[in-house]
Amino acid sequence: MAEKKKNEWAEKLAYAPKNGYERLSAEEERAMHAYCEDYKDFLDHGKTERLCVEHCIELASARGFVPYEKGMALRTGDKVYYNNRGKAIMLAVIGEQDLSHGANIGAAHTDAPRLDLKPRPLYEEAEMAYLKTHHYGGIRKYHWVTIPLELHGVVVRGDGSTVAVHIGADEGDPQFIINDLLPHLGREQGKKPLNEAIPSESLNLLVGGRPLAGEDCSDRFKLNVLKLLNEKYGIVEEDLISAELEVVPAGKARDIGFDRSFIASYGHDDRVCAYAELAGIFDAKSPKRTAVCIFADKEEIGSEGVSGMLSQAFDKFMADLCEAQGVALRDCLANSFCLSADVTAAYDPNFADVYDKRNAAFVNYGVGLCKYTGAGGKSGASDASAEVVGRVRKLLNDNGVFWQMAELGKTDAGGGGTVAKFMAQRNIDTLDAGVPVLSMHAPYETVAKLDCYMTYKTMRVIFEQN
Ligand code: MN
Ligand code: MN
Repeated sequence: MAEKKKNEWAEKLAYAPKNGYERLSAEEERAMHAYCEDYKDFLDHGKTERLCVEHCIELASARGFVPYEKGMALRTGDKVYYNNRGKAIMLAVIGEQDLSHGANIGAAHTDAPRLDLKPRPLYEEAEMAYLKTHHYGGIRKYHWVTIPLELHGVVVRGDGSTVAVHIGADEGDPQFIINDLLPHLGREQGKKPLNEAIPSESLNLLVGGRPLAGEDCSDRFKLNVLKLLNEKYGIVEEDLISAELEVVPAGKARDIGFDRSFIASYGHDDRVCAYAELAGIFDAKSPKRTAVCIFADKEEIGSEGVSGMLSQAFDKFMADLCEAQGVALRDCLANSFCLSADVTAAYDPNFADVYDKRNAAFVNYGVGLCKYTGAGGKSGASDASAEVVGRVRKLLNDNGVFWQMAELGKTDAGGGGTVAKFMAQRNIDTLDAGVPVLSMHAPYETVAKLDCYMTYKTMRVIFEQN
């Protein structure tokens, strides 16, 4: 009897989150699987920030979105987008109320950790041709050796014309690789700390091993690669200086597990939230307030740069929309709400000691709300208010969205940030939320399908809220 009484109190008073599969209806499960098939397709089309923008425009155009041009009249339900230099994009669905009531904003990023080519990448050594790389974002260098790699990007030629380069994704394409030491000779390397065993300057991509035929000169292996590049892309070595060529892991997104409950892929951070935003803004029913979906670039290197969230490109887009309605941008921003949609760390029992288990995000518990990110004493965090957390919590509960609270890990274990603080700086109430990820920033990251779907539902109710 005493035992029963205790449970009644617990039920009434205690917070006891449950695994999402204990609560998911069969109908929702079907919707979840359908959503995740579309998401995997998005991942396979979006290996770089540029490809994400291209694919986003394709999907949005098919749903009636048009490029916004300053001065365009805006009517309720109009769908517009602004392509920021092919590297970032913002979409808006114009609401019933004018922008003085504020906008509902989802801000995700579509750049992901990778290896960029250095400005002068090509050389030969020991009769093999290599491209030197410079990593972009936080990587663990030992992840990038001995895995198949693709190359994507653009080269601006001497005459100013641009040529796109995509090698390694199509069946039958060659791929690239960075080699590692064999264990037989790795005795000294094996004693080094993980972050020193593979130095940055050894992340050199193997791209050729055949000399230029019929010539008696030096650098024949490098020259043979240049000849092939010239034949295919019409480029010369100097053109590689005005290029953005990104080395990314090869392979497609795949279901993981006997029960197919996970998806592994390159770039879940943060395409899993970007796609949730996109699907959310596509599906949101006639929003009262204007809905804005952002794919930002440069988040992984601090959101700097003209395509990053610190750029005024966002403010210009919003100011142009406001101007069309005779509204001051500052009034719009002050009344806006932003979900900084970015991934969080999922509790990994294989590395239990870096997590505070009572405050960690767990796979299959739903979207992870993050009151603050940052490091140490919340340094670098925008630290959302109780009111902002309360607003989102109520919204998700009222709409049957599974959610959990999340901290990145133990306070002393490290830290990280998102674009949240750059939205908050603009006087926008902002909360971080996103999908918990296993092996975040690895070439192949893992997420749970249920959490992907709940993040989509989150974005949709954010865009539909008043
Ligand atoms: Mn991220
Ligand atoms: Mn990241």
